[in-house]
Amino acid sequence: MKRIIYIPFDHLHSNYGALKGADPAVDVIAMVESARMTTGRNWHKERLFFLISSARHFAKSLESEGFQVEYVKAATTVTGLELVSKKYPGLPIVCAEPSSFRQFEALKNHSVTFVENDFFLTPRALFRSWADSQKSYLMENFYRKQRVRLDVLMEGADPVGGAWNFDKENRLPPPKKYEGPDYLAHERDRIDIEVAAEIGHLITTTWATTRAGALAQLKNFIDNHFAEFGPLEDAMTTDNWALHHSLLSPYLNNGLLHASEVVEAAAAAYRTGKIPIESAEGFIRQIIGWREYVNGMYWFLGPDYRENNELQANRKLLPLFNDPSATKMNCIKETVADIQDRAWVHHIPRLMLLSNLALITGTNPQEFLDWMREVFIDASEWVMVPNVIGMGVHADGGQMMTKPYAAGGAYISRMSNYCKPCEYNPKLRTGETACPFTTLYWDFLDRHKETFAKNHRMSQQIFGLNRLNDLPELKERVKEVLEGLDQGSI
Ligand code: SF4
Repeated sequence: MKRIIYIPFDHLHSNYGALKGADPAVDVIAMVESARMTTGRNWHKERLFFLISSARHFAKSLESEGFQVEYVKAATTVTGLELVSKKYPGLPIVCAEPSSFRQFEALKNHSVTFVENDFFLTPRALFRSWADSQKSYLMENFYRKQRVRLDVLMEGADPVGGAWNFDKENRLPPPKKYEGPDYLAHERDRIDIEVAAEIGHLITTTWATTRAGALAQLKNFIDNHFAEFGPLEDAMTTDNWALHHSLLSPYLNNGLLHASEVVEAAAAAYRTGKIPIESAEGFIRQIIGWREYVNGMYWFLGPDYRENNELQANRKLLPLFNDPSATKMNCIKETVADIQDRAWVHHIPRLMLLSNLALITGTNPQEFLDWMREVFIDASEWVMVPNVIGMGVHADGGQMMTKPYAAGGAYISRMSNYCKPCEYNPKLRTGETACPFTTLYWDFLDRHKETFAKNHRMSQQIFGLNRLNDLPELKERVKEVLEGLDQGSI
């Protein structure tokens, strides 16, 4: 044997990273199930189950390709690698560049050598050169460059369909009664059952833990959901937990699928003429635009970025985030219950319900970030740090987004069916039945009006604030709402 190839649990693809060109005759594979990863935090059991079972299945598939696989359990990744090195003394350890600053540091200090991380479509150096050339890091500008560079949905130098994005077509509220095709239920095998038993998880069939299952999920999305994805991508409904979302982010983030496979499948489907441009463009933008941008920004902004708290938000995490019975707000109750069931809700409840609530209540960004990391199935560090600190709670003072994503109940009422059965009224900002989102939205603007005064993208909101004639009553209600949220009675 000549090398130890270390495969982290988010590099599970044979054709990318350190496995590209690996040879069973000379390469031994190391995988480490570290206690830091399994018991270090209050991880959602579904998430742990998915990550561990996927890794064990992947180890088995490498063995069937003829590799010697050392799958060890240890306190940390480094102690696990030491165990493997003892068995194969003197062999160098190779790994693709890890996906977080912490693991990069730990492995560098352990003299691991790195090959380029090609689990993304944009090399880190290429992103940096783009970001260095920008005054503000607008995702839309990056995305257009990606479309041209990767030649996706292009007609020569022009975007297919005559526009770079179709956001306006993609903001439909939920249909009266959603009756879309079912999502796949994934069969479980011996490895799945073993992992679930070890971590005390009640097994579900929501998420695949194999490459074959991830490919089946991709095919199911393309065949049955892709055409209708775009117009309903922002809608929220209690009728269905996923609408037409792809449910592919967990597999993209742990390596079972590569972004290029997903983009190629989507582009090929579009070429058949069966997929409307607004769905094709909306979906492809998530993959080649947003996903790549967020990863690029994680590395560009550096390890200290996660500690930002520019709005001085210091409220402790509200009890409702961990307990849906600790609130009467129907939108939050439903969303947190969904997360408890599947470790997933789509991007709009994440942004416009959960993050919005953390933002306008002044919840500490790091406490909220830690919670988001723990409960979502696809919550890698590189995804969550920019998404929460930059986009979700505007804790970076606008380095990433030009304005905060704060909204009152009117937006939620328009884009969901949560409000009708709710105790609160999205139109009211004062009084006992006022929607907490609406009350706290105005309070948020009022508390930060000086910060946002010079931000021209906030001028309309600040103008609206200045026209309010019930600020004293609003402040009374704010007090009641915040106390009630802390006590779990609102
Ligand atoms: Fe949520 Fe307010 Fe609507 Fe109730 S009224 S569901 S709290 S947005």
